[in-house]
Amino acid sequence: MLDYSSTLLEADSLNERAYALRLSNPQLAKSLAEQARDKSLHIDYPYGHACALRSLAAASVEQSLTNAFALAVHAIEIFATLGKREETSSALMPIFCYFVQNDRFDRARSTLEEALTISESINDKHSMSLIYYNFGWLACKEGESERAREFFEKSIELGSHGVNDWSYWRSRTRLIGLLAERAKEGDESEWQKAIELLFVDVSATGNLLALSEVLCVHIDACARAGRRAEVIAAVRRARQRTELFKDESCRAKLMYAHANALLLIGDEKRYISRLRRTATALEKANLKVRLGKMLFQLAIAEQKAGLFDQSANHFRQHIELQRHLQASDAEYRLNEVIHEALAKHLRGQLDSAVSKSDQLIEMNERLQFSLEQQTLLQRELTRIASTDELTGAVNRRQIVNDGLLEMERYRHTGSPFSVTVIDVDHFKSINDSFGHATGDEVLRRLTKCCQALLRRFDVFGRLGGEEFCIVHHDTDLHGAQMAVKRVMDAVGKMFTADILPDREFSVSMGVAEVHEADASFYDVLHHADMALFEAKRAGRNTYRLAQSRTLEAA
Ligand code: GH3
Ligand code: MG
Ligand code: MG
Repeated sequence: MLDYSSTLLEADSLNERAYALRLSNPQLAKSLAEQARDKSLHIDYPYGHACALRSLAAASVEQSLTNAFALAVHAIEIFATLGKREETSSALMPIFCYFVQNDRFDRARSTLEEALTISESINDKHSMSLIYYNFGWLACKEGESERAREFFEKSIELGSHGVNDWSYWRSRTRLIGLLAERAKEGDESEWQKAIELLFVDVSATGNLLALSEVLCVHIDACARAGRRAEVIAAVRRARQRTELFKDESCRAKLMYAHANALLLIGDEKRYISRLRRTATALEKANLKVRLGKMLFQLAIAEQKAGLFDQSANHFRQHIELQRHLQASDAEYRLNEVIHEALAKHLRGQLDSAVSKSDQLIEMNERLQFSLEQQTLLQRELTRIASTDELTGAVNRRQIVNDGLLEMERYRHTGSPFSVTVIDVDHFKSINDSFGHATGDEVLRRLTKCCQALLRRFDVFGRLGGEEFCIVHHDTDLHGAQMAVKRVMDAVGKMFTADILPDREFSVSMGVAEVHEADASFYDVLHHADMALFEAKRAGRNTYRLAQSRTLEAA
């Protein structure tokens, strides 16, 4: 559980960083998002997975738009199943880029509109600033500079104060680009001033990407105005910012601006050489989508210039790169599929292990229960096997068992025990006169009567019929006689008037103490029986002690 929640927190924090860096540092954002995706898949955390895909999509725009598109669609699908439509706004941006790239401006616009509705509903200014920037960019592409200006202004307003640096600086730069374009027909000082101001502002932030954008716009604007000298000055100014040339992406951007400026001022030869350098920088920066376009543009320029060998070479490189991009798109998707399938498989294994262990626990519980039942049953069976059903006293088997134990004990310790056999007098006639049921009741009452008199370790049981037995624990003949007298007395007082009206009830008893000549408990029992016989012969309602044995043995 701890593992799950800590992985979840890790995924969230990776996603947060990836999202923040997705535009300014796509490479790093991508690697963070990939880690977040792996962790989310590992713990089956769809929200984390979708957030990771969203950042991956944004970070992949420069690498492969089709891939970015697919990733974004995937993210949106997951957000939709989670009911988190509000999260989909920024995932729509790569989709917008894809449509623009494929000249599907209508779809691009509707995508932006959808994103804007979502962002406005949750007042997400970061996304709104980006969306307005894209609206502006789209308007530029369609030649609607007035609307573009409005959009850029809106983007600046929303993205200011660090809400979205990326779209803020881009919008400001584009706005000046628009001013410069308008300036062709009239006033030039306005945009010149604006660009100087922007240059100062951007320099203060140290935002290289924004700075390179500003410089590019300046170069482009000068070239469009046909000012050769100013183009050279602008390029020199850019070169002086060496830090810009260390970053291959910025370097490529500036090279390309320079190349286009050279074309605008009619220097075709140097234009081709700048394009080549741009291509090299793009290759180093690993910006493959742009490199693909650059190679195509270069090949066409070379073809026009009659440089057929180089042109053919660059066309080939372009084709190869396009193939590679397509293949890597598929490869990327394949990896993702494998990853997802693996995670699902692992989860499946985990689930089945959990359910197996649940099943085992359940089986164990059932087994435990049935064991307990069995123990209870065993006890019940033992009780039944050792109990006389009619009276609830122990039965003959148990008397014999206990008697054998007493015999053992006697042999080991020498401490004596005695046995009394009790027989109801004229029981047959009780049955005959009052019925079998009354006979049964008499036996039950006699049992209760005797049990009440005996000590904890004495055993009282029914030998069978109307015969009972007492095994007097640790008791010699004298002690047994005391007990028998008490029994005699109690039985004499036993209440039977209700069931045996006008009838005396009595028992006869024979008592024997264990003797060293006795081979087993049965011998002691036999002697008690003999004494009982004596008591019967003496007229019943009395007891006899098996005394003569000592003498016999002697
Ligand atoms: P004595 O005084 O010599 O002991 O005579 P008795 O009638 O008691 O002895 P006898 O052995 O002649 O008769 C025992 C009777 O006990 C015979 C039998 O039907 C009856 N009997 C045995 N078991 C039960 C029982 O579980 N319930 C009832 N009601 N009668 C039983
Ligand atoms: Mg009898
Ligand atoms: Mg009898």
